[in-house]
Amino acid sequence: MLQRRRMTISGTVQGVGFRPFVYNLAVRLGITGHVANTSEGVLVEVQGKPAVLSLFLEMILTGHPLLAHPKIMTNNPVKVILEENDFVIQHSQTGSDKKALITPDATVCEECLQELNDPTDRRYRYPFINCTHCGPRFTIISDVPYDRPNTTMRPFQMCDKCQGEYDNPADRRFHAQPNACSVCGPHLWLTDTNGKQIETTDPVKMAIDWLEQGNIVAIKGLGGFHLAVRADSDQAVGALRERKYRKAKSFAVMVRDIDAAMKLARVDPVARELLLSVGRPVVLCPGVDNEVLSDLVAPTSRYVGIMLPYTPLHVLLMAGNYPALVMTSGNNSDEPIECSNEGALEKLGAIADGYLMHNRDIYTSCDDSVVKTFQQAPQMIRRARGFVPAALGIDRKSQGDILAVGAELKNTVTFVKGPQAFVSQHIGDLGNATTYESFLRTVEKLGALTGARPRIIACDMHPSMLSTRFAQSYEGVRLIKVQHHHAHIAAVMGEYNLPGPVVGIVADGVGYGTDQTVWGCEAMAVWPERFERKGYLQQIPMPGGDAASRQPWRMAVSYLVDAYGLEKGVALGCELLKHIDPKQIEAVGMMIGRGVNSPLTSSLGRLFDGVSALLGVCMENSYEAQGAIELENRVDLDETLAYPIEIAEREKCKVILLPPVIDALVKDINAGIPAGKIAGRFHNFIIGALEQMALSIADELSTDCVALSGGVFQNDLILSRMTQALKNKGLLPYFSRKLPVNDGGISYGQAVVADAIAAKTAI
Ligand code: ZN
Ligand code: ZN
Ligand code: FE
Repeated sequence: MLQRRRMTISGTVQGVGFRPFVYNLAVRLGITGHVANTSEGVLVEVQGKPAVLSLFLEMILTGHPLLAHPKIMTNNPVKVILEENDFVIQHSQTGSDKKALITPDATVCEECLQELNDPTDRRYRYPFINCTHCGPRFTIISDVPYDRPNTTMRPFQMCDKCQGEYDNPADRRFHAQPNACSVCGPHLWLTDTNGKQIETTDPVKMAIDWLEQGNIVAIKGLGGFHLAVRADSDQAVGALRERKYRKAKSFAVMVRDIDAAMKLARVDPVARELLLSVGRPVVLCPGVDNEVLSDLVAPTSRYVGIMLPYTPLHVLLMAGNYPALVMTSGNNSDEPIECSNEGALEKLGAIADGYLMHNRDIYTSCDDSVVKTFQQAPQMIRRARGFVPAALGIDRKSQGDILAVGAELKNTVTFVKGPQAFVSQHIGDLGNATTYESFLRTVEKLGALTGARPRIIACDMHPSMLSTRFAQSYEGVRLIKVQHHHAHIAAVMGEYNLPGPVVGIVADGVGYGTDQTVWGCEAMAVWPERFERKGYLQQIPMPGGDAASRQPWRMAVSYLVDAYGLEKGVALGCELLKHIDPKQIEAVGMMIGRGVNSPLTSSLGRLFDGVSALLGVCMENSYEAQGAIELENRVDLDETLAYPIEIAEREKCKVILLPPVIDALVKDINAGIPAGKIAGRFHNFIIGALEQMALSIADELSTDCVALSGGVFQNDLILSRMTQALKNKGLLPYFSRKLPVNDGGISYGQAVVADAIAAKTAI
């Protein structure tokens, strides 16, 4: 008795060797029928004996290729076709509704690596070797379905051998869209800084020579250009810092293999798995004393950002005579990573000594992702290459697609379609004009790939943010404005499917509040569709506005003036801030006194900055949160004392008061207490104060769920002690892991809020 079934399979099934897998399986089991890519995923019709068909189904779910994540959507009996006697792969169908998932870019697979290193293989040392189990995906795709004409491989006509592989269902490269070889595929070349090609038969060998000599080489990778330099040379790394105007922020390094990584840092089992994962992120690991890395690689951090080679080209380059390469994004500070040959020549000319380029275009630029281990599990810090566009779940309450345009800093955008949220790659700080262009392109490209047709647009409440203005310019959609810290907490609720209400503790830099002041440290009662502000850190003037974020000493003056009054505060400032010109301190005091360009903020980030400056740890932030990071690094972990927690009631809100803290801290400084102990007491105060807030709101709401979010929770010490303190009180702390706790998660949180509001108040 023959049976015939038609199945639609969605999930990650395109471009991952799924159809060849289905084909080979069907042939092996003697099943007839066909398989085809559709815009929704894959359509399979199979005909055979019922027992064989159920075995087929079982194998689909358990034996599928590494990169595939199939979901069987429908599985219905249809009429048997008696005259059918084979199984075929049909050409792609294009539908109007795009549901097929595109996979993230994947690191070169073991089989391809073997061929790469095999002198008898026709792809020996071919830098673009790939197969259905590995290689570029998201960065080269312009549209779905994932077929070669919809990728930047379109201009390359396959040679007979490659075409043979592509057409042979039994081959590992069957329908491998970027399939290529040195005869027919993309190739590498070297240029000088003027773009003039350099004569050589082996560009890789020559690039290695350049790197060995300490030159800075701009290398075109998967998601954009890297600036590479040998990581063991002070001179080489120093030159890169100087030319990139990057004073202190750490550089990521690439090492040959896991053994090399373990010489530089403590690589725990989770970090090891992350380093070796197909997404190949940069993994932050606690550094260990080593003879390998120049001190200039990570001068102010306890961590080393490490990654392993993820393209065949990287594998070839890592054969050079150097222990590690600094591999940092090829951009000028604050600009997006360069991904075109012309752009790189134009923008990186003053940094690079030469270029290693190729002619496989990058359609969508994508930075390296950054992850770390926190409490024995991965925690995302920057989500981009290797992770995007994998979808996150979202428990939908409303109908229709949503676009959320994110925050101003560390911007990402999110498209929601059905029960899936597609969070874009890290875009950057929108204040920069080219980053804003990249934002616009990302909205367009991710919108096309997901096929989302937004009926709701979610944005921040800040009226002058570029993303807000962009959202307002959209026509024919419903606009929903979401408070920054509401979005922070909603991102956590979305990730863990928390229905609310939850206690929301936000420890952040900057977020525009409903009272038009700058919020930064809030304790809130949070539901998906609304929130109530229950408490906050006392607000304080930020003299000079943004300048105060770059110059922590300005905040130090502000806290002193708040604690002691103008005259005494300024005098103390002059005494304690030894490296700052007293005239500048007086000028800042005057600004505060007169209320000139001194917006109020409850930012916890700024408080860390101020304390860092008072202790002489960090006077200027050359990168974001430098003061806070350096302060955390100084903490004496054995210190158990805490600065006094005093809380006042103001208009139904609890306010954490700062003068008692600042006074105790100044007394400690004057008494000669070591900075490590003071930093410890300050950290303990923050944790204690936030814990108190959380407890009282949890009580009021009768919930034990506490969501933590905001950039300050990137501080391991705060997050680990805070979660422990809450657990000790019987509460359940939650924080983002799949998305960053910083503003990279805001777009997803906005989407969660907008969905809930839309469901409650349908128009
Ligand atoms: Zn492969
Ligand atoms: Zn070929
Ligand atoms: Fe934030």
